[in-house]
Amino acid sequence: MKTAALIVAAGRGIRAGGNDGLPKQYRSLGGSPVLRHSLQTFGALTSIDQIRVVIHPEDAELYQSCAGIGGPGLGPPIQGGATRQESVRLGLEALATAAPDRVLIHDAARPMVDRETIAQVLAALDVHPGAIAAVPAVDTLKRATPAGTIGATVDRSGLWQAQTPQGFHYARILDAHRRAATSAPCDFTDDAAIAEWAGLEVALVLGSTGNVKLTTQADFERAERLMGSSAGEVRTGSGFDVHRFTAGDHVWLCGIRIPHTHMLEGHSDADVGLHALTDAILGALGDGDIGQHFPPSDPKWKGASSKLFLADAARRVRERGGVITNVDVTLLCEAPRIGPHRDAMRAAIAAILAIESQRVGVKATTTEGLGFTGRREGIAAMATATLCLKC
Ligand code: MG
Repeated sequence: MKTAALIVAAGRGIRAGGNDGLPKQYRSLGGSPVLRHSLQTFGALTSIDQIRVVIHPEDAELYQSCAGIGGPGLGPPIQGGATRQESVRLGLEALATAAPDRVLIHDAARPMVDRETIAQVLAALDVHPGAIAAVPAVDTLKRATPAGTIGATVDRSGLWQAQTPQGFHYARILDAHRRAATSAPCDFTDDAAIAEWAGLEVALVLGSTGNVKLTTQADFERAERLMGSSAGEVRTGSGFDVHRFTAGDHVWLCGIRIPHTHMLEGHSDADVGLHALTDAILGALGDGDIGQHFPPSDPKWKGASSKLFLADAARRVRERGGVITNVDVTLLCEAPRIGPHRDAMRAAIAAILAIESQRVGVKATTTEGLGFTGRREGIAAMATATLCLKC
């Protein structure tokens, strides 16, 4: 079973009104061209054997800079026609030598399509000759009069808004497009309409409301918001810390109190894991280090919980409009054993940083008896933090 994806990117997109003068499918969204988002999503699916993009004849250079070297399944671009319908037909004709069993037709102006929606459309093609992603109409629909007043309220029950991808058995949709090109008015606005005209049964598959079509500048702004942090600048930082053992009966590690034969010496609670992590976040921000913000010489911090230091670093990230993508801590010691406390440590760090615990890694290693950690003189910790800052 061979499956092709045909991405339609031949429009001019003038309504999007970008000040960069680019057709909307080449404008930047979340740091990369709109078209590239769809290429990446479809290109990552093993269920798709070949991807072809239908482009406007004047956009060959733009396309090359956007598609780059492409993935293994990305074939050469296909020149589109005067209307969307014609562009799709030319795309389908170009696939004839590859002769796929199924084809997914997708508008490049829907860059936020998700893998689940694509998979559902493909699954529906096992039992129907056509299937499209769509969402039920939720707003009350009004039919306007020429004067701009309400002429009627339209019953929305059973009404769906069509999206893409729209999938078809390849031979059937090619035949429908060929016949429509010669014997029907060329004003079909999507491929499902052509399939309907040709008498094909087309299934509705529940798509995602996030699979928006970019038409206006406001759509771009909404899409940037939906993409959230992905539009920002990614930063990483690293931290390292060591504390020596002294007489005591517990240690604080990554926000957890653990009974032990010794304690760690320090001005604060000496939580070496949280200190390394605090420095990693400050490092990613380019904002000094823990000693600069919380000097050991200041009696205010004597015996302080290191959670305060980490929480302050997280506050600095939020102040800069950023989010913490993930953090990772490695503890180096012979004892105590970290494994039994790992999940509690992850949860503690996640709570302090106000992120999900799946974004927090805590690991431990011994140093095989070597060095100061091997001689059980103290504990060392390393950490990295990845942030996304608004540009
Ligand atoms: Mg320290």
